[in-house]
Amino acid sequence: MFESLSDRLGGVFDRLRGRGALTEADVRAAMREVRVALLEADVALPVAREFVEKATEKAIGQNVLRSVTPGQQVVKIVSDALVEMLGADASELDLGVTPPAIIMMVGLQGSGKTTTTAKIAKRLSAGPGGRDRKKVLMASLDVNRPNAQEQLATLGTQISVATLPIVAGQQPVDIARRAMQAAKLQGFDVLMLDTAGRLHVDQALMDEMKAVADVANPAEILLVVDSLTGQDAVNVAQNFSDQVPLTGIVLTRMDGDARGGAALSMRAVTGKPIKFAGTGEKLDALETFHPERVAGRILGMGDVVSLVERAAESIQAEDAERMAAKMAKGQFDMNDLRAQLAQMQRMGGLGALAGMIPGMKKAQGAVASVGGEKVLVHMDAMIGSMTIKERAKPELINAKRKIRIAKGSGTTVQEVNKLLKMHLEMSTAMKKIKKMGGMKGMMAMLG
Ligand code: GDP
Repeated sequence: MFESLSDRLGGVFDRLRGRGALTEADVRAAMREVRVALLEADVALPVAREFVEKATEKAIGQNVLRSVTPGQQVVKIVSDALVEMLGADASELDLGVTPPAIIMMVGLQGSGKTTTTAKIAKRLSAGPGGRDRKKVLMASLDVNRPNAQEQLATLGTQISVATLPIVAGQQPVDIARRAMQAAKLQGFDVLMLDTAGRLHVDQALMDEMKAVADVANPAEILLVVDSLTGQDAVNVAQNFSDQVPLTGIVLTRMDGDARGGAALSMRAVTGKPIKFAGTGEKLDALETFHPERVAGRILGMGDVVSLVERAAESIQAEDAERMAAKMAKGQFDMNDLRAQLAQMQRMGGLGALAGMIPGMKKAQGAVASVGGEKVLVHMDAMIGSMTIKERAKPELINAKRKIRIAKGSGTTVQEVNKLLKMHLEMSTAMKKIKKMGGMKGMMAMLG
């Protein structure tokens, strides 16, 4: 996500930080570059304009330019503005007080609505991979698309979440009523209503949604939109938002979205919080949308918090704590890198982790250039060919040792160099975090 924006902003920031003194003209020039970067990321024009105006005013207006570290402060102003654009705090689901809480899912056909319904149900449920131990019932109100109801039932079986039995010929509002009654009688905590999609926003669809919302009075109405459709996604959201009282937005296919325009302008245009991001086809590929963490990723600082959280899910708790402590201390040797590589494979490979590890963005380029995922296996072999001393102190590895390692692992000296470079970049980034006062300092700096 956000690779190109991150690169562009990184360049602007490096130039700002590289100077001692800054003039008003320097700031204006930098902000023009920020604006171009935002537009290239497909941020809506009015949003980009307002963003840059506000940030410029702050940077020029206060005593920033006369301060000791003007570049650093301008960077901070831009990162604050980014967090604000993305929506300040993470918005949790609000399930009200009297169960069953109803979550109504709306969106166009193909947006990933049914998949997302199952992903959220899985997360809320007491089943495997669930976090909230709630008793969840899912019901599909989609009577338009053949097999839509069966699709949800199949997903329900996969994630061990109950679905409402299908009654042929029943209409959406009646299905909603039946689902509510079943949820109440059978003591469900949460009822998820997956409504029908359409190819385009049309009045019949809106009317149907309004009728269902009137009957169900949902605690949450979540709009699912495909982030890959960029500004269209924002337009769709605005259309829906005008007609149904949305409580939040789920952006799907963030895994394939390099530009991020929809994510960046959604909040500003619709006023609705992004609650989740879909990051893959698997039913656990759903992330709570944390604006400050996403901003951190965009600014190339990595999202260590999410990384550690994700790691914690797939490894032992003590391991996660040890890893977080090491990161915070800025100690990071080849053994740690190896452990991380193994985890990366378990956590869904490099793609899923892109941008989460500080310094990983640059390292990723190196990784991609030698063959993507396969390289994880090579890296493991290279580290395996190092002596214990070399692993603990990679700076010992001279030209002669590189040749030995390459031979031992069936790789090349170039690959060994790339591995060393990746390690160096990651440990440098972690030291930087340490300098900023650890994770807390980083979060504070981000707002
Ligand atoms: P619906 O018509 O809106 O209900 O869409 P579906 O839930 O059937 O999803 C359409 C396709 O998008 C399916 O193949 C899903 O696996 C895929 N999909 C959904 N969410 C994501 C996501 O976050 N990332 C990726 N890569 N694919 C997704």
